[in-house]
Amino acid sequence: MLILKFGGTSVKDDEAFARVLQIIQESTNSEKCFVVLSASATITDSLIMLMHFAVHNDLENGRTCFEKISLHHLQLLYKLIPDDSPYFNEAETKIRILLDELQEISKSVNFLKESTPRTLDKIMSYGELLSTTLMYYYLLNNSLNAFFVDAREIIATDSSYNKAKVDFEKSQINVNEKILPLFDEGMDIGISQGFIGANNSKQTTTLGRGGSDYTASLFGKFLNATEIQIWTDVDGILSADPRLIKEVSTIPVMEFNEMRSLAYFGAKVVSPDALIPAIEANIPIKVLNTFSETLRKGTYILPKLNRQKSELHSVMRMDVYKINFSISKLDNFLEDSLKIITKIQQQNGKIYSISILPDKLTVWIDKATFNKSHFSTTFSNYSPEICDDLTLFGLVGINLNNFDSHHFITRFHKYKFEYIEIGVSPNEILISIKSEAAREFYREVNQFILANLNVS
Ligand code: ASP
Ligand code: MG
Repeated sequence: MLILKFGGTSVKDDEAFARVLQIIQESTNSEKCFVVLSASATITDSLIMLMHFAVHNDLENGRTCFEKISLHHLQLLYKLIPDDSPYFNEAETKIRILLDELQEISKSVNFLKESTPRTLDKIMSYGELLSTTLMYYYLLNNSLNAFFVDAREIIATDSSYNKAKVDFEKSQINVNEKILPLFDEGMDIGISQGFIGANNSKQTTTLGRGGSDYTASLFGKFLNATEIQIWTDVDGILSADPRLIKEVSTIPVMEFNEMRSLAYFGAKVVSPDALIPAIEANIPIKVLNTFSETLRKGTYILPKLNRQKSELHSVMRMDVYKINFSISKLDNFLEDSLKIITKIQQQNGKIYSISILPDKLTVWIDKATFNKSHFSTTFSNYSPEICDDLTLFGLVGINLNNFDSHHFITRFHKYKFEYIEIGVSPNEILISIKSEAAREFYREVNQFILANLNVS
């Protein structure tokens, strides 16, 4: 069993739907598939706006917003399913019922002028309900042997609306009772919504924005899938940030912990937390591009890579402040360090690295998260020195505690390393250099990584 998850851009218009159809068709040649969909791109945001307009009695914008959502899905329906198709009437009725419900709910919200997290979840769920209803009939119309699953009958959650917690045991029972028998009876494809679930009293809940990856990961675990494929609009996980570096390459294989490091360094593709249920169940995950010519190339993410050698896979660049604090009473240095770190965190400073020596604490903080204006007064006891002309690089890979640092440092000797942290984590190396050389260094390290990625 394969899990195929398609994000918002993969169901944004009829051409995207056609790509998805092709991918599902190809996939069912080899295995049964369970498809998880997001709402069409931007629809969840529009639904939130719809609620906002209703609460604030902004009737005109509310109407425009509803019309936009409605038109988007009706036009998709007319493009995807010809009106002489045997499925057309049923599909149109279902889509219109969903749209009518949505309109009724937004009217009720407007009447009460009150928004609650519970109503927001209800409203947001229509994005996924609409996209999956369209896809379901589109699959049927293309002669695929598919069944529709309302995720609210499967994904059981508590009542923390907007970010509900999943009850794994109950959900597993639901899968066993309501989904597995359909596959056993010979169905090839199941299709369901990402992001949504329901609590004990059958109220709709959501798993948090971007929650569809998490749903895919859950279905992977519950259905004991051989693989989870996350189809998106980029070529998997890349060797460097494509906004900053032109010649990036897809990392063919990586291990899960690298995803965590990359996410911490600011990479956005897939949140590692979403993948935990699948990784714990030992299910590999592939991140693929719905729109790429070479469809099946992407990044394979495994719980662990059984390789001996160290390998660099990617590099991220971070704009940082390096701050040195002097600690005068040496016997207190740990306590004082902890105080300083806690205070930085209370001010929401994102810390990349810390080094503590008996008389000195050095902290590397993300520039965007830290307001240095009140800084000197807050920490005046520790005579802080801020250095803001350094850039930090996070090199990510596997077995990096055995990394040949001599070779690397020789290769990059023309750059003066202000700081290097190596041997601490198997998946991360941190290097800092002066910001004026950062662009070139970033480019060269990426090249270095690419040269090695190709041979492995
Ligand atoms: N549609 C939801 C959102 O935009 C969930 C998702 O796309 O994963 O947050
Ligand atoms: Mg999305």
